[in-house]
Amino acid sequence: MLLREVGYAKPSSVADALAVLAEHDGARALAGGQTLINVMKARAASPDVLVDLNGIEALKGIDLAADGTLSIGPMTTCSEIIGSAEAKARPILGEVCAQIADVQVRNRGTIGGNVCANDPTNHLPPLLTAIGARMTIAGSGGERVVPAEEFFVGVYLTAVGPGELLTRITIPAGRRDGFAAVTLGVDGTCIANAAASVDGSLRIALGCVDSVPVLLTPDGPESVGAAVRGAGLDPPSDVHASSEYRLHLAEVLAVRAATQALERS
Ligand SMILES: Cc1cc2nc3c(=O)[nH]c(=O)nc-3n(C[C@H](O)[C@H](O)[C@H](O)COP(=O)(O)OP(=O)(O)OC[C@H]3O[C@@H](n4cnc5c(N)ncnc54)[C@H](O)[C@@H]3O)c2cc1C
Repeated sequence: MLLREVGYAKPSSVADALAVLAEHDGARALAGGQTLINVMKARAASPDVLVDLNGIEALKGIDLAADGTLSIGPMTTCSEIIGSAEAKARPILGEVCAQIADVQVRNRGTIGGNVCANDPTNHLPPLLTAIGARMTIAGSGGERVVPAEEFFVGVYLTAVGPGELLTRITIPAGRRDGFAAVTLGVDGTCIANAAASVDGSLRIALGCVDSVPVLLTPDGPESVGAAVRGAGLDPPSDVHASSEYRLHLAEVLAVRAATQALERS
């Protein structure tokens, strides 16, 4: 289906992008367009103005600090993360980005678009929750930093409010992470997924079982299964999996992700 007519702006700074967003209630940020353009074609979203972020250099790139902290611009694509020497400081990032969809989607789709879309079946929301990412959000009132576990607030909803932009994703140093998923075919949409990190305390984030990633902090590896069973989850049923089956997968995948994380040095 063709797009309906839409205004278009391509600012070169965050300040200019925020000004366009403030000027038009119906304006929407455009990153890689892999989700937004499709939902516009389906008329599920109908912004008046697209604010294309592709001209803003400050929103791109990956910096690695001396202490191992990664600072990633939201306009960095999955392919750039996979190929980045700096991102290898936290190897799970490139490993999981490489599992997303196909090369065309990875070449255009950005880390910021992936998390701002907050599709509950996406790979990156649970991963960033498990590894303790922090999200910088900018708006007319200035900047604020939100931990990933508070960033995802509902299906397709995040802490980024109207007129605001995600401007940076900060990821602490660490290597002992894991990720496991059951997907629809190779590199397909997740039916269930789980990310784990054992840098510091054990953190597990489950995807596809609720509207937002479910963060669990079991006492130790032997408690992972019990933590999933005790989390009071009521996953959705659909054509791909019943609620009971998703719950079963969540437990299996949480144990798998935690085991992978623990086996890493
Ligand atoms: C065929 C197909 C299969 C896919 N399969 C998977 C999969 O298996 N797993 C997975 O994780 N992903 C999957 N995706 C999603 C894909 O990886 C992208 O992450 C996703 O489409 C959004 O990224 P984007 O850069 O294209 O963002 P866009 O589509 O441009 O934007 C998405 C949303 O985020 C908002 N946004 C973007 N950047 C910002 C910002 N900086 N600040 C505020 N709001 C912002 C936009 O306004 C929009 O609402 C798939 C996509 C396609 C088309």
